[in-house]
Amino acid sequence: MTENHYIVFVSRPGVNGEPKEENFRFEQCPYPADLQKDEVLIKTLYLSVDPALRCRMNESTGVDYVGPWQIGETIEGFGGVGSVVKSLNPEFVEGDLVCSQYGWPWKEYFIRKPDKSFQKVDKTLVGGKISYCLSVLSLTGLTSYLGITEKGHLQPLHTLVISGAAGACGSLAGQFGHLKGCGRVIGICGSDEKCKYLTDELEFNGAINYKTQNIEDELCKHCPKGIDVYFDNVGGEISDQVIKQMNKDSHVILCGQISVYNKDVPYPPPIPEETQQCLQQNNITRERFLVLNYPEKFDESLKQIAEWLLSGKIKVKETIAEGLVNAGPAFVSMMRGGNIGKQLIRVASL
Ligand code: NDP
Repeated sequence: MTENHYIVFVSRPGVNGEPKEENFRFEQCPYPADLQKDEVLIKTLYLSVDPALRCRMNESTGVDYVGPWQIGETIEGFGGVGSVVKSLNPEFVEGDLVCSQYGWPWKEYFIRKPDKSFQKVDKTLVGGKISYCLSVLSLTGLTSYLGITEKGHLQPLHTLVISGAAGACGSLAGQFGHLKGCGRVIGICGSDEKCKYLTDELEFNGAINYKTQNIEDELCKHCPKGIDVYFDNVGGEISDQVIKQMNKDSHVILCGQISVYNKDVPYPPPIPEETQQCLQQNNITRERFLVLNYPEKFDESLKQIAEWLLSGKIKVKETIAEGLVNAGPAFVSMMRGGNIGKQLIRVASL
């Protein structure tokens, strides 16, 4: 009899608390029973780990697109990729690789009646790396691409600054910025190793370690013509510093505000009066961006990203935790900056 395991949500960290490994528990559970008509039995291969899951740990998420996790229930993440073990659905056969960007349970084996969000993996697109459908060719890649194209108003030779720059969205956004003609791309991130990765491997024009360097001085040095576009993944003090050095009529891409996800504030969080004045005086746009608002643009955007990927124009990094047992620790680590590129969990091999 095949064993099955899942991750149970056991406690909330509190709206003002950091997530902890004890909030999650790895447990054995029954192998799924027989399939009904149109259902498939899935074996999970990889799971996506996302900062937006943090709001699901609270009693109320504060957003309308996901609800809170309930204590004692299986963790429901966003993306997952798996293989079909058995099928009573005419569209799927044993051995098919499938992927979904929403609602994948943190479970080794489970039964699902596939809906529209469930797609077969196009192996030619992912170039043999199935994890790519949870990183560069997923909502993550789309967030970076559509953030830049829909809210960036990029012009040739613009200076683009990115916070959370060595993470999943940030590392791609910088590369997309260069491909779209930016003159300078500067990343802000939390370690020297990450800075080195950005400049040496991704060819960012500069990188700033916000934990050890003076952001204001470093921005002056790296952005002699001011800042035209700011891809904001983090919010808080880092963003206040960046906004102070933005040019007239420039643009903030309000992608995420991870620096306040462990705080009891609404989303987007209030910003200091001084920053607000700076935005107004310089006519800087700062509109909320949510990738889910652009479903009609997903196909053409993925096509462009895949073309760049297959022609070697973008590099992809993933930080992979081994085994479902390490899912909770992987989430906690990502929230603390333990990842470079996309944080994933490898649950099983093909
Ligand atoms: P990342 O891969 O960037 O991982 C999170 C990173 O955030 C960590 O590695 C850490 O890097 C950084 N971080 C954590 N705490 C802080 C802090 N207090 N201050 C500054 N940086 C911090 O995650 P994603 O790429 O998946 O997500 C990036 C952002 O994009 C998030 O805010 C997320 O919510 C948002 N997002 C928005 C979407 C949208 O539709 N608008 C869709 C998907 C994601 P470091 O070592 O540099 O601190």
